[in-house]
Amino acid sequence: MNIALQTQPPALSDYYSETKCIWCDGCGNYGIWSAVKYALVELNLHPWQVCLCYDVGCNGNGSDKIEGYRFHGLHGRVIPFAAGAKLANMKAPVIAFGGDGGTFSEGVGHLVHGVRSNYPITFVLHNNTNFGLTTGQASSLTPQGQPMNTSPYGIPEHTLASMDLIFSLNPTFVARGFSGDIKLITRILKAAIQHRGFAFVEMLQACPTYNHFATHEYLLNRYFDANADGHDPGNLQQARALAAQVQDRIACGILYQREDIPHFYDRLVPRQGLETTCVEEVRRYDVSEYWKELV
Ligand code: SF4
Repeated sequence: MNIALQTQPPALSDYYSETKCIWCDGCGNYGIWSAVKYALVELNLHPWQVCLCYDVGCNGNGSDKIEGYRFHGLHGRVIPFAAGAKLANMKAPVIAFGGDGGTFSEGVGHLVHGVRSNYPITFVLHNNTNFGLTTGQASSLTPQGQPMNTSPYGIPEHTLASMDLIFSLNPTFVARGFSGDIKLITRILKAAIQHRGFAFVEMLQACPTYNHFATHEYLLNRYFDANADGHDPGNLQQARALAAQVQDRIACGILYQREDIPHFYDRLVPRQGLETTCVEEVRRYDVSEYWKELV
């Protein structure tokens, strides 16, 4: 990273990475990846000012394709390590990325507690409705009965009502975007990053290699900007009902937001009244004496 650029306003090129892209042609990840960069630049954030945390999955390969402080962790575990990074340094915006597979299967417990704790982070769900990286297995969000690579007769379990689950946890920010509308998702991401609490952002995305039912065209023909249609993001019941309807039209935009609920850190009694961050309080200790007792 060019330190000389730190006093200049950020540019898209600051986020450029030399790493060769291995996403499939037409993958929705490209749109989300582009919008993240636009949002960060428009918020005047340099790569060295943000912490980007990635789950395992096709979305996680995005960690190689962007400059900045990035952490690529275990499958389904992105929320705990993103929350830990935020608690260590409250001054840095933290964005976590996960897929529908890791988030609503291995990581569903972390998601539940992330929302209910109202950790002050942004969580971006790359929803391609399958496990793409492991070649097209059904996830909890794949429609029941949909044939997939390892379940040619469809999975027997019913599809998890993901938005209903999120709204049952008293969220403070819920949004939905479509990877084909970069302008819309840039706006959503900017609002999510600025939100004081846990911002849940579902990104509907095409996976042309393994998802042949919710294609780019399918999503393009159904999504709409609910905010442009006059939706009030302050009404929880309306937002919940709107989010759950995905058959004919799919509401996108900022579906729900409230800022009057304190986030986790604000309720953390031992940190109250302190001006410093945890990372600023780190001290250097000589542990060599303790070490001698162990060897
Ligand atoms: Fe994208 Fe699907 Fe290819 Fe993964 S498998 S890179 S989600 S198109």
